[in-house]
Amino acid sequence: MFPFDNSYARLPDRFYASVYPEAVSGPVLIAFNGPLAKNLGLTLDETDTQRLAAIFSGNVLPPGATPLAMAYAGHQFGNFVPQLGDGRAILLGEVVDQDGVRRDIQLKGAGPTPFSRRGDGRAALGPVLREYIVSEAFAALGIPATRALAAVLTGDPVQRETMLPGAVFTRVAASHVRVGTFQYFAARGDEEAIRALADYVIDRHDPDLKGADNPYLALLTRVAERQAALIARWLGVGFIHGVMNTDNMTISGETIDFGPCAFLDEYDHMKVFSSIDQQGRYAYRNQPGIGQWNMARLAECLLPLIDADQDRAVEAANEVLKRFGEAFQKAWMAVFRQKLGLTGEEAEDGDLAQTLLAAMQEGRADFTLTFRRLAAVAEADVGNDDAGKLKAEAAFLEGFAPWQKAEAWLPLWRARLSREASDGVDRAAKMRAVNPVVIPRNHRIEEAIVAAGEGDLTPFRRLLEAVSAPYEDRPEFVPYAEPPKDEERVLRTFCGT
Ligand code: AMP
Ligand code: MG
Repeated sequence: MFPFDNSYARLPDRFYASVYPEAVSGPVLIAFNGPLAKNLGLTLDETDTQRLAAIFSGNVLPPGATPLAMAYAGHQFGNFVPQLGDGRAILLGEVVDQDGVRRDIQLKGAGPTPFSRRGDGRAALGPVLREYIVSEAFAALGIPATRALAAVLTGDPVQRETMLPGAVFTRVAASHVRVGTFQYFAARGDEEAIRALADYVIDRHDPDLKGADNPYLALLTRVAERQAALIARWLGVGFIHGVMNTDNMTISGETIDFGPCAFLDEYDHMKVFSSIDQQGRYAYRNQPGIGQWNMARLAECLLPLIDADQDRAVEAANEVLKRFGEAFQKAWMAVFRQKLGLTGEEAEDGDLAQTLLAAMQEGRADFTLTFRRLAAVAEADVGNDDAGKLKAEAAFLEGFAPWQKAEAWLPLWRARLSREASDGVDRAAKMRAVNPVVIPRNHRIEEAIVAAGEGDLTPFRRLLEAVSAPYEDRPEFVPYAEPPKDEERVLRTFCGT
C-alpha cells in the first residue's frame, strides 16, 4: 500500500540508526491529507480511520518500510553541536510521487531513538497541529515546504511544562537532508561520507549537475540559490521561521521544522516570536543574513570536495557566498515588485518598496492586510468611481497609525504605476494572486490548539480550510483575515517540542 523505494537506507550504516517506532496506547486519527496520499501513490482506505491511526502512530509498520533515524549535527543559535540527529523522528521510507519526485515519509514524535539524548522522543498535540496548519498553508501559498500527511493522538500524555496530550505528526519532504547532515560528517573528518552524501543529494535533487565541471561547487551554488529564493518568499508573506539553525535548513530548499514560527501581524522588521531567541538572531529582517551564514557552514563542509587545493576551494566558495547576497536581492525584488503590482523593472523599485515598509514599520501596519488593501486601491484607481477611489484609499491608510508616511508614499507608487507598460486593468487581480488575504495567524493557531486540547477539533479543521485558499476572498472566512484583538495577541511562541 506504500510503494516504498528506500534509497537513504542504502547509504552506509553510519548515516543513520535503524529504529522502530514505539507503540502507543490509544491512537486516534485527527487529520489525514487524502489528496497528498493519492499524489504519493499510497493506497489507503480513507474511511478506515482505525487503520490509518495505527499506521500513522507507528503502531503498524507498512510493508516495505525501513524505519531509521537520520544522523546530523548543527549550529543551534550559533553554537555547534556535533551530534543531534532525529531524536524523535523516524523515517519510514521513500516513495516516488505522481510528479516523479522522490519523497520521504517520516513520523515525528514516534518514540525515542539513539539520538534522543534526554528527550522523550515524543511530540505534544499543540506543536503537531501548528506544524500541520503551517505546512499546509505554505503549500497553498505556493512556497516550498514539507507537507502534512497525518496527525494522530497517541493516548499517552507527554510531560512538558505541564502534562499535555501526545501526538504523532507524519511529514513528507523532498528529503530530510540538512546543512547539518553535512556538518555531522565534516565534524568527524569523514570525507568519504561527505562525498557519498553530496553524490546522494545531487542524484536526488540535482541530477543535472552530474555533468558540471565541478559538481560539488555547482551543488553549493544551487543550494544557495534555492535558499535565497525561499527566504525572499518568506519575507514576502511576513514569515518568521524562528529557529534557522543549520539542522533546520534543507538542501532541497524546502522550509522545514515549524517550531516557534509565526507570520507577522503588524509589521516590525525586528520581530521574533521564539521565547528562546532573546538576541533576535532569527528576527524577520535577519533571515537572509542567517541564510547566508548557514550557507557558509555548508560551504566549509564541501571545501575538500570543491578543490584539493584549499586556497582555491575557499576562493571558489566565497564567490558563491557573495552571490547569495545578490541572488537574495534579486529574488526579494521580484517578490516585492509583484506585491506592488509592478511588471516592469526600474532601478528605484527597491526604494519604493523600502519606503512603504518604513511607513508600515512606523505605522504598525498589518503586513498582510496592507498589501491586500493596496490591491483594492489599484482596482479603484483604474475605474471612474471617485467615491470608490477615496474609500479604497481611506481603507488602506486606516491601517497605519500614524498614516502620514503612507499617504506620502501613495503618489510615488501611482507615479511609478503610470510608467508601467500595461493599462492596469488586471493589476489588482495579479496583486491579489500574490498577496494572500488569509495567513495562519498566530492567535488562530493558538485558538485551534487550545480547543483541540479540550477535545474540540472544529477550530483546527476550520482554520485548515481557511488557509487552504489564501489568495481568495471568501466571505465565510473573513474573520480569519483579521488581525488579533489586543486580548487575542500571542506574545511568545515556545520552542515547540
Ligand atoms: P528541533 O528544535 O525540533 O529542530 O530539534 C532539535 C534537536 O532536538 C533534534 O535533534 C531533535 O531530534 C531533538 N529533539 C527535539 N525534541 C525532542 C524530543 N521530545 N525527544 C527527543 N529529541 C528531541
Ligand atoms: Mg529540527
